[in-house]
Amino acid sequence: MFSSKNSIPYSKQTIDEDDVAAVINVLKSDWLTTGPMVTRFETEIAHFTGASFGVAVSSGTAALHAAMFAIDIKAGDEVIVPSLTFAATANAVVYQGGTPVFADIEPHSFLIDPTSVASKISPRTKAIIAVDYAGNPCDYDALNRLAKKNNLILVSDACHSLGGKYKDRKVGTLADLSVFSFHPAKHITTAEGGMITTNNENFARRIKTFRNHGITTDHRERAEKGTCHYEMIELGYNYRLNDIQCALGVSQLKKLPAWIERRNAIAHSYTNAFNKVPYLELQKPQEQSLHAHHLYVIRLNGKIISQSRDQVLALMKQRGIGANVHYPPVHLHPYYVENFQTKRGQLPVTESVYEGIISLPMYPSMTEEDVSRVVDAVTSL
Ligand SMILES: *Cc1c(COP(=O)(O)O)cnc(C)c1O
Repeated sequence: MFSSKNSIPYSKQTIDEDDVAAVINVLKSDWLTTGPMVTRFETEIAHFTGASFGVAVSSGTAALHAAMFAIDIKAGDEVIVPSLTFAATANAVVYQGGTPVFADIEPHSFLIDPTSVASKISPRTKAIIAVDYAGNPCDYDALNRLAKKNNLILVSDACHSLGGKYKDRKVGTLADLSVFSFHPAKHITTAEGGMITTNNENFARRIKTFRNHGITTDHRERAEKGTCHYEMIELGYNYRLNDIQCALGVSQLKKLPAWIERRNAIAHSYTNAFNKVPYLELQKPQEQSLHAHHLYVIRLNGKIISQSRDQVLALMKQRGIGANVHYPPVHLHPYYVENFQTKRGQLPVTESVYEGIISLPMYPSMTEEDVSRVVDAVTSL
């Protein structure tokens, strides 16, 4: 991410010499795309999360789309999603012709509220997409119970929570399908990239076909079998991730455990400093879980603080701190208002949380001095 000198960005990738070397090695090899590094990255992510299968795709958005395809979402189907998320979560449902139905969040964890989800289930509901907002794993026990009881598929949008845990189970195994992004703002990067993890072999096979135009074999498999013949059995896309990117992913993944620790240490410093500040509310971590801290989100208490959230953001910018807001609620985007008749007032908790939230700088290479600068700015408002 771009940052001007002396200013602290809200997020920043870490690229070391070994990452650079891994990429150069692929450039000098026989395979630039869909070669051995793709399989290796998939296997290593599956191993890291404990899932049976990993399928690499070109972005987190493509991963969400592929998940909606794998579970056969089509026109008339409803999928329950939170609104405090990146638009891609809901867009993936729309790509398949389905209807996203927005559920509200819990006021302290900022996570999709299972009670609200239950109230949105209709005879047309096919699935739920849970978003581990900021890296805080959702209440997967409650969500899995609801899904099972109502014969729904549970998808985890885990773009914020790679490396997180819920009750000693790793993110990537908590739902029927889990979706990751390797955008530079996320925990590990392939520049652009995504992955789906699942224990369901049928879903994994359908996604592999989907990312390659709906063709059942890829170029490398045909080369190995010595055949030119291929068949297209579904309408798919070119959502492939290439070997250059996967080599970067494999190299980055080695450092993920240390980075999760560093993110948690930074979060600990923030929490210690902000805990007793009257105008701040902090995100409540899920019980018995490991927060992956893609983001560190504070909520301004509008009843106590006189400045608006946007005034605070401007002040932070003046002090060289790149704070951000995640996210404008999806149901309030003009596209959804126009096409799905969503409106202000329909998700009171989401809308009220959104008014006060700020994402503070959070990335592994932040120095103690950076952390202190952020703490000083936030505690002296
Ligand atoms: C980043 C992100 C995505 C999309 O990932 P891309 O790789 O940018 O396409 C989807 N959902 C959430 C919650 C995200 O944070």
